[in-house]
Amino acid sequence: RRCMGSSIAHWAAKTPDNMAIDCPSGQLSYAELDKAATDYARALTGAGFKKGDRICWLGKNSGLYFTLFAAASRAGMVIAPIGWRLAAPEVAYVLKDTQAPLLICEPGFASVAKQAAAEAGTQQILCTEAVDGLQSLADWRDETAPGELSETDSAEGVLQLYTSGTTGNPKGAVLSSDNLFKLRPLVEDHPDHAWIDLKSGDSTLAVMPCAHIAGSGIGPIAMYNGATMMVIPEFTPDAVLDCIDKGLNQFFLVPTALQMLVSVPRAQETDFSKLRSVTYGAAPIPLELLRQCIKTMPNALFCQQYGMTETTGTVCILPPEDHDPEGNERMRGIGIPLPSVELKIVDENHQEVPPGTIGEIATRSGLNMLHYFNNPEKTAETIDADGWLYTGDAAIMDEDGYFYIKDRVKDMIISGGENVYPAEVENAIFGHPQVNEVAVIGIPDPKWGEAVKAVVSPKPGVEEIDAESVIAWARERIAGFKVPKSVDVIAELPRNASGKILRRELRAPYWEGQD
Ligand code: ATP
Ligand code: MG
Repeated sequence: RRCMGSSIAHWAAKTPDNMAIDCPSGQLSYAELDKAATDYARALTGAGFKKGDRICWLGKNSGLYFTLFAAASRAGMVIAPIGWRLAAPEVAYVLKDTQAPLLICEPGFASVAKQAAAEAGTQQILCTEAVDGLQSLADWRDETAPGELSETDSAEGVLQLYTSGTTGNPKGAVLSSDNLFKLRPLVEDHPDHAWIDLKSGDSTLAVMPCAHIAGSGIGPIAMYNGATMMVIPEFTPDAVLDCIDKGLNQFFLVPTALQMLVSVPRAQETDFSKLRSVTYGAAPIPLELLRQCIKTMPNALFCQQYGMTETTGTVCILPPEDHDPEGNERMRGIGIPLPSVELKIVDENHQEVPPGTIGEIATRSGLNMLHYFNNPEKTAETIDADGWLYTGDAAIMDEDGYFYIKDRVKDMIISGGENVYPAEVENAIFGHPQVNEVAVIGIPDPKWGEAVKAVVSPKPGVEEIDAESVIAWARERIAGFKVPKSVDVIAELPRNASGKILRRELRAPYWEGQD
């Protein structure tokens, strides 16, 4: 079982009637998934698409997406899902970058798909339903003379995901089955750990958008273990709670989604007793929220995951035994590397620094992507000749080998020769009674080089935020050189499709002509 295709075939032979995919549009047993993936794979090769071609998907999560993922791998092709929250020009950017000959979309995205495909010069669009003059995927499959299967080699690209675009244009990270299956230690039995508890017959959730590693990576892992994957098109607290009511055993959610989940009244009346494993990550989680989640879902083992698209999602975990309902220092960090993952903190010259010193996280393991698609320069900037991948995340490691993220290296502010990490200043301002969201940036300053500025949005019902009170609030909590020198108030902070705040957009007007 070295790839998703062979995992599915394995369980189709062993437990053909076990449910592989349970999604609002229908259920598929392992036997049915195996057949559906093969039929689409034969249509792809029969239609003349070539080995290594990218097949783009523009849609929400669905059983069909995961079927096509498996089909592409059986046809020797690479699935490249595109974020459905993106606007047509952004979709065109990704589509063009993939050079995909085929875009498959859901009906709700037909017009965006057409506009983007026209701009990118994509040959063919199919839709999961015949709308807007587009041919339906099922009709196309039935009309196409079936071709031969040719499973993608496990060391070759099988999944191409675009980074979130938090720090610049999204980059296409090419991941192989070998990459994806290196996540297995997360779910396999360990003598001393049970990180993600998931076995044949158990259920997990595909809920994060499939264009992200957290959304797509769960497919191969669930299939490897012969588990059932409940698929929900898009996160809502109710959709997750419906799955909990059906006896869901495991899920991964980002902190913002966890926050929404535990805030709805229904969560307080829900029986979470079947939920044995909760994993979370992709962004820092407030300690208070984590404590609240542990209390709401007392039977679940909690495990934090840190990683990036370029490292197949997870290289570092905070294991269940470091979680406690009262909260502890380790819960502020990202934990320890997975077995077989090397993680170190380096300075600007990529030299390792001693414990307790801030630097950039570098990582080396079989989880590192193959490369950025068609981008050897960016790849060489990110992965060095010895295989170390530089994450762009600033962090420290303590004496016990636990890692703590400070912020993005790119976002670090140097003010009067002192390093200021926006995340720390943001955390200090976060509890201010009038402040809803906060982002901290550096702006050019003749005296300090860069000056710390906070951009805040008001809580609902708050008419005006008093900038002086925000500064005073921060002064009580952090060192003077970190305290913002100025505060801007705006209605809402700009975020990308993953919900991450785009500090670069806030910074841009101040740096025009200066960078
Ligand atoms: P781009 O690379 O295009 O600027 P991005 O880095 O946001 O976008 P992703 O690959 O989706 O794209 O996100 C990876 C980043 O998310 C990491 O580099 C890190 O900054 C952050 N991150 C991931 N997991 C965690 C975590 N558990 N705690 C804190 N931050 C995390
Ligand atoms: Mg990144």
